[in-house]
Amino acid sequence: QHSYRPQQTYDQNQTTSGESSGISSIVANHYNNINNKDISERLKSRIYFMRNFNNWIKSIIIRDTISLIRQDRKDLSDDFVVFDLGCGKGGDLIKFQKSKISHLVAADIAAISIEHCKDRFKCMNNKTYTADFINIDCTRERLRNHLPDASLQFDMTSCQFSFHYCFESYEQARMMIQNASESLKIGGIFCGTIPDSNEVMKRLKQSGSNQYGNNLYSITFPKSYDEMVADGIPIFGSRYNFHLDEVVDCPEFLVHFPIFEELCHSFGMKLIFKRSFGSFFLENKDDPGNFQLMNYMDALEKYPPKNNEKLAGTARDDYQHIRDF
Ligand code: SAM
Repeated sequence: QHSYRPQQTYDQNQTTSGESSGISSIVANHYNNINNKDISERLKSRIYFMRNFNNWIKSIIIRDTISLIRQDRKDLSDDFVVFDLGCGKGGDLIKFQKSKISHLVAADIAAISIEHCKDRFKCMNNKTYTADFINIDCTRERLRNHLPDASLQFDMTSCQFSFHYCFESYEQARMMIQNASESLKIGGIFCGTIPDSNEVMKRLKQSGSNQYGNNLYSITFPKSYDEMVADGIPIFGSRYNFHLDEVVDCPEFLVHFPIFEELCHSFGMKLIFKRSFGSFFLENKDDPGNFQLMNYMDALEKYPPKNNEKLAGTARDDYQHIRDF
């Protein structure tokens, strides 16, 4: 834990970005401008293994969460509605197909990403589900007002690598969580992946400066760890810049997990599961199906390592550094 400002600051709608619309347009422009690389280009990417590893993690989260909800459900219908919050270009469309969902609502702030997502869905073979695509800022607008059917209820909300953008202000975090939760059925689950703020701050402290990273990624704060602690780290609006190879260069915010949990609680949710990527990997890697999936997805450069050899190769070493993202 790091010394954040006292809690009374968190119910003030504070934004440190200095822009009235916050960073929304920066984030939307950034994601809109990322090229839609084809598979051969992706294979050449320096973050190929990290991307595949993240996809392996998401595949298991999505598959296992859907099966948990189905197991606990009283009704035996095949209907299963998913809300993909911050869907991007549709990186998880096939994962939903594999779990045989019946309908998807996909929302994102980046209009061009949503168009790519729609095209990708159209091109998917043997589709088993229908989908609605919605271009909104989920931290400022109520999704329900944009749904073709406002009474539609979700079995699961999935928010993969997108939630941390809402910690710009208290109001935005609340709206994001309201969107994630208000249309969930009783027994539904909100699942997702976010950067680990404690790990980010730990590495910042170790760096002794306002920046750390390696040849693939960097995280830059306006101030050093000591300066931040001296000034008091705000619970909302703790902004840093995340740079990842040629793919990401975008502002993000630290997510104060206890406050995130408290906000979720105020919308009727309780925490059932939280893991770092490292622990999640260790807990899931030995399952034969997951192991097979890991090799199929090419999620690690070489797995398992032979005779405890030191894992070599830049991609693998870099992955060791950044896998907790
Ligand atoms: N979930 C996708 C995935 O895992 O492939 C995309 C993840 S990408 C790292 C983050 C996504 O969050 C981007 O597509 C971005 O446009 C979206 N996003 C950021 N802020 C948002 C907001 N306020 N409302 C909706 N989407 C947002």
